[in-house]
Amino acid sequence: MPYDYIIVGGGPAGCVLANRLSADPSIKVLLLEAGGSDWNPLFRMPAGFARMTKGVASWGWSTVPQKHLKGRVIWYTQAKVIGGGSSINAQLYTRGNAKDYDAWVTDAGCKGWSYREVLPYFIRSEDNQRLVNAFHGYGGPLGVSYPVNPPPISFAFLRAAQELGIPFNADFNGAVQDGIGHYQLSTRDAERSSASSAFLKPVRDRKNLTVRLNAQTLRVEIEKGRAVGVTIAQASGTESLRADREVIVSCGAIGSPRLLQLSGIGPADALKSAGVSVVHDLPGVGDNMQDHLDLYAISECTGDHTYDRMARPHRTVWAGLQYLLFKTGPVTSTLFETGGFWYADKKARSPDIQFHLGLGSGIEAGVAQMKNPGVTLNSAFLRPRSRGTVRLANADPKAAPLIDPNYWAEPYDRECALKGLRLAREILRQPALKPFVLAERLPGDSLKSDEELAEYAYRSCKTDHHPAGTCAMGTGPEAVVTPDLKLRGIEGLRIVDASAMPFVPSCNTNAPTIMVAEKASDIILGKQLLPPAEI
Ligand SMILES: Cc1cc2nc3c(=O)[nH]c(=O)nc-3n(C[C@H](O)[C@H](O)[C@H](O)COP(=O)(O)OP(=O)(O)OC[C@H]3O[C@@H](n4cnc5c(N)ncnc54)[C@H](O)[C@@H]3O)c2cc1C
Repeated sequence: MPYDYIIVGGGPAGCVLANRLSADPSIKVLLLEAGGSDWNPLFRMPAGFARMTKGVASWGWSTVPQKHLKGRVIWYTQAKVIGGGSSINAQLYTRGNAKDYDAWVTDAGCKGWSYREVLPYFIRSEDNQRLVNAFHGYGGPLGVSYPVNPPPISFAFLRAAQELGIPFNADFNGAVQDGIGHYQLSTRDAERSSASSAFLKPVRDRKNLTVRLNAQTLRVEIEKGRAVGVTIAQASGTESLRADREVIVSCGAIGSPRLLQLSGIGPADALKSAGVSVVHDLPGVGDNMQDHLDLYAISECTGDHTYDRMARPHRTVWAGLQYLLFKTGPVTSTLFETGGFWYADKKARSPDIQFHLGLGSGIEAGVAQMKNPGVTLNSAFLRPRSRGTVRLANADPKAAPLIDPNYWAEPYDRECALKGLRLAREILRQPALKPFVLAERLPGDSLKSDEELAEYAYRSCKTDHHPAGTCAMGTGPEAVVTPDLKLRGIEGLRIVDASAMPFVPSCNTNAPTIMVAEKASDIILGKQLLPPAEI
């Protein structure tokens, strides 16, 4: 049966598109996801995040050795499950800075994507538990709420940051991004609000929407310069599926350039050296990769102030019961629910450092677990100048791609990241945290110079999981898609996901991706939400 639209990739972007496009019963939509279902309750529990960077529902990829990090290979979690990253992420709901989107217009030529023009799409998707004003709304599919019961150490952290001169901010997604506070979370009633549970589940019984799981797309089929369908892997061989109107690729910032290259769309030289026949030479595919790199300080606590205490079995059982019976307690925590935005470069146009307070140690893959209870403070530099690539290792669709974020290729990124790490250490040393924090364990008091801290970073840094920009929209020769997300040079093919962002926003990237897909669905359907007269 031919479909009107085939959406490849059931992550945040794919789920939003499936919902919005199939709202018209005359449009037949197929959503294809390589991963499986999210039925397991672990996906719904906010604290399930503690398992999510350690291989659950992920493709199992790593970066190539990082040239500017002394050859370090970094574990690179990318979701493989319906809902994509929104089913395994830390559920922080952040939109970034208004100037991020304004720069999409002024610096990348993406007409129509200014903050004023995208704000209505953030609001349309939102079901905010608390806030209704010029920046927020309720009644949309995506649950947004504040942490249920943050522990005392997180409030001490807020006071400590203020002692250092960083102001309190009750809403990073409002008029001002700067400051420290509790994050809004993509949760509703103490459960994860993933794109799957928010956008897909409520419309699964639409007769014009088909969702196929465990269906990895092997290539987009191009005939006479037009995308006409896809070929997917099946237990016994392959299957071809036709799209009458469009194929929409929403496989994420790694998956989308990977699928395009497997389909023969990308830089001709790179395709040839991977053994793929060139269908359409498009140099920007897989270029312009941006990501946020996390450095962190870990301190030992004076007592059981964080969820490291849950390591003891009787406490885990009690926390489970508390959650099941009352929807309160540690399981309601995403473990990273406090933090904020501040400056490494005082001349920066808007905050360029983001903090995430980790309520424990060893929460994420590769991060040290302390013997005694600990607290972690991540700091990520938000506007990297380094640019990386996503390439194929070979023509085999099962092979892992070559992911090269090229972290710290630009010395400015290293300089700002180290300033961010110093700020994180300073916050943890402020008087307000003294009753909670015994001593810094990582990097450790003895490491002071930039060189020593850089050596520590080479050993310990990790991705903040925000790849973007690898099929960037724009108007220049490197642009992969036009500002209406059409692939340049092929008819009937759009790219809609984090890969289409020309610059990674200064925040976590789930809400911005959902916004991109919300706006894309209107572009596809020929509709438009009007921007507010003023904000
Ligand atoms: C561990 C982790 C923690 C994060 N924490 C946060 C956070 O707290 N807050 C936040 O805002 N952001 C966070 N992010 C980032 C956020 O989740 C991503 O920006 C967002 O998921 C990107 O959405 P996407 O639709 O572009 O791609 P993805 O989420 O990557 O979804 C793409 C989907 O396409 C599927 N796919 C790929 N290739 C194929 C193929 N060939 N055929 C079929 N299907 C395919 C994948 O399996 C996947 O399900 C986190 C991400 C990770 C991984």
